[in-house]
Amino acid sequence: MRQDYDIIIVGGGLAGLTAALHLSQSAHSILLIEKNEFPKHKVCGEYVSNEVLPYLNRLGVDPIAHGAKEITKFAFSGLSGEVLRIDLPLGGFGISRYALDYMMYNKLIKNGVTVERASVLDITYCDEMFEVAITDKSYRTPHVIGAYGKRSTLDITLSRKFISTRSPWLGVKAHYETDFPEDEVALHNFKGGYCGLSKVETDAVNVCYLADVASFKKYKDLDTYRVEVLEKNKELKSFFAKAKPLFNKPLTISQISFQNKQTVENHILMIGDSAGLIHPLCGNGMAMAIHSAKIASECLLEFLSYPKSRALLEQNYTKQWKAAFTTRMRNGAIIQRGLQSDTITKVGVRVLQQSPRLLTKIITSTHGKNLL
Ligand SMILES: Cc1cc2nc3c(=O)[nH]c(=O)nc-3n(C[C@H](O)[C@H](O)[C@H](O)COP(=O)(O)OP(=O)(O)OC[C@H]3O[C@@H](n4cnc5c(N)ncnc54)[C@H](O)[C@@H]3O)c2cc1C
Repeated sequence: MRQDYDIIIVGGGLAGLTAALHLSQSAHSILLIEKNEFPKHKVCGEYVSNEVLPYLNRLGVDPIAHGAKEITKFAFSGLSGEVLRIDLPLGGFGISRYALDYMMYNKLIKNGVTVERASVLDITYCDEMFEVAITDKSYRTPHVIGAYGKRSTLDITLSRKFISTRSPWLGVKAHYETDFPEDEVALHNFKGGYCGLSKVETDAVNVCYLADVASFKKYKDLDTYRVEVLEKNKELKSFFAKAKPLFNKPLTISQISFQNKQTVENHILMIGDSAGLIHPLCGNGMAMAIHSAKIASECLLEFLSYPKSRALLEQNYTKQWKAAFTTRMRNGAIIQRGLQSDTITKVGVRVLQQSPRLLTKIITSTHGKNLL
């Protein structure tokens, strides 16, 4: 029976790149298929939790050596803009997706992995073999890792359950030039959403916000929305008053879904946002994407060394994924719901001001331990 690769990874964001880097340390043949060119800007807060730094270093990726900002402080403000500052329990680093994904892609090419630029149109499974279809051909492989992100037409093709429900969330991101502390990540609440600020390797400040589409639709464009809604928070108002935009226009994505997804779908091991997206306010989605890629790669390598049944491989991956992420995703969803309520946010900010250690506990509850 024809087999083109041992493993095919669909999607070359952080999850797909990590899995490819991990698996490239074995003797298996790997193909990574990504629909976009590298490098590319993406809608993302660009704050990465330090929990994945030792593992990234182990894969030969060193963001700090590439100028990532070391972030040790967290600032938070509620609707009024009153700011609460604490030291981050674990900390993180600020780096653009443009730089981080590209750094990992270059490492992958150095490791000799084949990367093809194409859109995967369909993935079918029959008799222990997948057929992965792109425009003009298809590849056959016994293992597929799905790393194609939050939402893709592939989810429709694969009839994934979550895709039929519309999501009310919109993401907006741009880089700005202005004075901003290098070692701080800030989260400022506004009516209908929240906005993250932190510096990246170019010295630009990344501004990324998540907004409820219903609140956004009342305004004619992003500028009006920013002035009328975001700038009601006085921290954001003073930021935008002095900040110079570095993008021609902000990048936007809609239909950001936080619904539960299956970790294995039609025998495809789903990783990163394809398996589930934590609320961005936790600043932990990228770390989860990287961590889930590690779990899937380890499960797959174990299976390839000591083949048992595919069902066991899938159960093992799902079990490890749930153990690592279910609690933090649930905590993230609870915090998100709290932030949507003006009253809870106001009371919450007052309580946290009296007891900043509670904020440290909340942050810890949405993060993992150091990944080696
Ligand atoms: C507004 C917002 C702010 C965020 N801020 C942060 C933050 O500050 N810190 C943090 O840790 N996380 C943050 N996140 C979460 C983080 O961005 C994601 O969790 C992370 O990007 C997931 O990586 P991924 O590889 O799963 O997906 P992606 O990075 O989206 O990669 C998926 C890749 O698959 C490709 N693809 C899609 N369909 C196909 C196809 N059919 N064929 C081939 N390729 C395909 C895409 O082009 C893409 O490159 C934020 C998310 C949002 C929405």
